[in-house]
Amino acid sequence: MHVVVTGGGGFLGSHLCEALLARGDSVTCLDDFSTGSPDNIAHLYSRERFAFRLTDVSAGIDMAGPVDAVDAVVHLASPASPADYYRLPLETLAVGSRGTEHALELAQRHGARFVLASTSEVYGDPHVHPQPEDYLGNVNPVGPRSVYDEAKRYAEALSCAYARTHGANVGIIRIFNTYGPRLRPHDGRVVSSFIRQALAGEPLTLYGSGDQTRSFCYVDDLVRGIVAMIDSRELGPINLGNPDERSIAQLAGLVLEITGSDSGTEFLPLPADDPVRRCPVIIRATERLGWKPEISLEDGVQRTVAWFRSQTRVTPPREAPSAERANDSTSAVQGRPHPLETG
Ligand code: NAD
Ligand code: UDP
Repeated sequence: MHVVVTGGGGFLGSHLCEALLARGDSVTCLDDFSTGSPDNIAHLYSRERFAFRLTDVSAGIDMAGPVDAVDAVVHLASPASPADYYRLPLETLAVGSRGTEHALELAQRHGARFVLASTSEVYGDPHVHPQPEDYLGNVNPVGPRSVYDEAKRYAEALSCAYARTHGANVGIIRIFNTYGPRLRPHDGRVVSSFIRQALAGEPLTLYGSGDQTRSFCYVDDLVRGIVAMIDSRELGPINLGNPDERSIAQLAGLVLEITGSDSGTEFLPLPADDPVRRCPVIIRATERLGWKPEISLEDGVQRTVAWFRSQTRVTPPREAPSAERANDSTSAVQGRPHPLETG
């Protein structure tokens, strides 16, 4: 197969490109590196079946030149960390809307399978727990997270409209919190933040009480699920995630234990609209894709810590906190700015 992966230079995308190459597929990776990095795919450039095109998929997808038939398009391009989509709100809406349309058009031109990376964020701060795919969600359409949540909800609607109107072979996966090697140390997500802080001897920043929950999936498991979705003709949506639900305080304890760090913890205000509980129902994934996660949180965090330790340098954050934020007393604790807007 020839698979086009938008966002292939990011965390999940780079692992997906690797997995597809490993099974003999050809891969064209499209990325603008707005939240990804060339380092993630540098080891793939020399591979014969790998091609890269620097592309902002919101502006358009130009596959000019000699291009093999495209068999599948996997649309992963989008900021994914709350810190990233707060920093890039208009870009996030653009890639979820125009970017998705361009990726769908590419698939349509080639009669290719189209897989949309949607998210558990379409359930918002859920009133139903755990979350099955037929739960319609509780999203604040005007809150700071809406740029991501609503962009993904629109992307789902657009993909379904293409399936209904053009008979497009569309599949929608709703990805729950996933972690592993190649998370950016400063991307603001909880696993990367906690590991970086523990290894640096800094206190782990717990937002709110730390009682809010997430269900963390190791990247290798998740990528197996994406590949299964590429190979199927399921429309979905299908949840992909590990139903092993933990509180954020439990995660902090686990990271401190595995790293052997005595960093301790500090509490910061909870960001606006931060979901209280999140856990996937994965019956559909199991029944329709034969997929379930296999790697425990303990094992996955150990692997991720080993990778963070193997990195010789930790790149600095992309931007310093603005003076406005630093001076905002609602977002500062002990004189340090809160990395996210708070509710
Ligand atoms: P990431 O930020 O590491 O990767 C996203 C990639 O998309 C980056 O390489 C970025 O440069 C690229 N990109 C962004 N806008 C682009 C544009 N306009 N044109 C081209 N490239 C663009 O994030 P990730 O964790 O790898 O997430 C990948 C996808 O999976 C996203 O769509 C995200 O919404 C979805 N997802 C991820 C998670 C998770 O826990 N990792 C959970 C739910 C959904
Ligand atoms: N979180 C935290 N400390 C951090 C980063 C995140 O306590 O340094 C919390 C955050 O408030 C949320 C959970 O961890 O409740 C997961 O956050 P993340 O940004 O990783 O993902 P998402 O909110 O998108 O699930």
